Amino acid sequence: MNEDGKNRNGEAVADGGSESEPESALATARRQLERAASHADVDDGVVARLKHPTRVQQVSVPLRRDDGSLDVFTGFRAQHDDVRGPYKGGLRYHPEVTADECIGLSMWMTWKCAVMDLPFGGGKGGVAVDPKTLSDEERERLTRRFAEEIRNVVGPKKDVPAPDMGTGPQEMAWFMDAYSMQQGETTPGVVTGKPPVIGGSYGREEAPGRSVAIVTREAIDFYDWDIEDTTVAVQGFGSVGANAARLLDEWGAKVVAVSDVDGAIYDPDGLDTQDVEGHDERPGMVSGYDAPESLTNEDLLELDVDVLIPAAIGNVITTENVDAISADMVVEGANGPTTFAADAVLEERGIPVLPDILANAGGVTVSYFEWLQDINRRQWSLERVHEELEAEMLKAWNAVREHVEERDLTWRDAAYVVALSRIGGAKETRGLWP
Ligand code: NAD
Repeated sequence: MNEDGKNRNGEAVADGGSESEPESALATARRQLERAASHADVDDGVVARLKHPTRVQQVSVPLRRDDGSLDVFTGFRAQHDDVRGPYKGGLRYHPEVTADECIGLSMWMTWKCAVMDLPFGGGKGGVAVDPKTLSDEERERLTRRFAEEIRNVVGPKKDVPAPDMGTGPQEMAWFMDAYSMQQGETTPGVVTGKPPVIGGSYGREEAPGRSVAIVTREAIDFYDWDIEDTTVAVQGFGSVGANAARLLDEWGAKVVAVSDVDGAIYDPDGLDTQDVEGHDERPGMVSGYDAPESLTNEDLLELDVDVLIPAAIGNVITTENVDAISADMVVEGANGPTTFAADAVLEERGIPVLPDILANAGGVTVSYFEWLQDINRRQWSLERVHEELEAEMLKAWNAVREHVEERDLTWRDAAYVVALSRIGGAKETRGLWP
């Protein structure tokens, strides 16, 4: 924001409101659906169907611990909607995984796949466990048993899980192996996010960060800014944040601040993002970097920069801090970093928010490429993955941009309208049986 109380787009900036915060991912997802439905030409019956998941499988996952004792964990797989193709979405290992959280996150996956026009619906699942308390062997046994417990509802043509919080390529490899052993045939397409040696795609890991950078670059162009004059702050220098920051840096933007869970670093002249190590590379390294200033994560969110990219966790821009947000644009790298109420305040203040379901959708898009490679048994080069991702992102960007330009919608509403009209169109055309 400028000193004259206007943002960089010259629009007057209003004070924030104080709506109550949503309680859960499911509550937020339902509120976002209701809001989007009011902008989209979709049958009420279709909207009613979309408020509910098709199925939620809850399972018990017994685990033999290394010391011989036995623990039982609870796992879930929520399948929201598959009108456009198999359910698609991550599996997380986190102590707070619940059925409702999985349902809310699976709804977001439905919209994300539809906005990208991928032939998938939305799913999400996980096990309520803290993976840090498990040895590698325990994680393997837990993953294999969980795969067995949900085997009847997953499959390359039914539901294709992927890594999420607390899981990664190794868990996907164990899951794929367990599924394949029971099916009696190697089935790489049952999960995505696998290591390339067993059918994973090159470029999958960097993809969400790359799409965040592409969307940021297109938005900078849309508002007639010059990328060379654009300052960027990134919360969370992990897989999404570090890849986005490094690409934007490479394309000429000035990345002035980045953070990890321990804190943030700030250099008004721009950081050397290649030289800042990511969280995965060495925990605590961001705050260990020799920058002129260190900040807290809260300070980073309030920096007076052109673009703020929250790329760490959900619910970081809330009614508590939204009035202090000074960036001229927010690009959501994380899933759900802006609460429903804070989003309304940013809209009032004329600060564009490029939504998660578009900005970080590079991850599921390259997962789709991986699924295609698995089905065709033919691996793509990294160059091809980058080219096709760029093309898919621009296609989705243009579809959303048209609604912003023609109907004066927010970027989030426009993305939801694109998604909902595709899903609604498919549901109305297929009809309800019986
Ligand atoms: P990651 O674990 O690689 O990185 C997360 C980063 O955030 C790390 O730097 C970590 O130190 C930091 N962090 C963690 N807790 C924090 C806190 N409380 N405050 C500030 N920083 C904190 O995770 P990631 O894969 O980059 O995912 C980040 C976000 O992006 C998540 O919301 C995730 O759901 C979303 N996302 C990830 C993918 C993917 O495929 N990796 C795809 C789409 C969306």
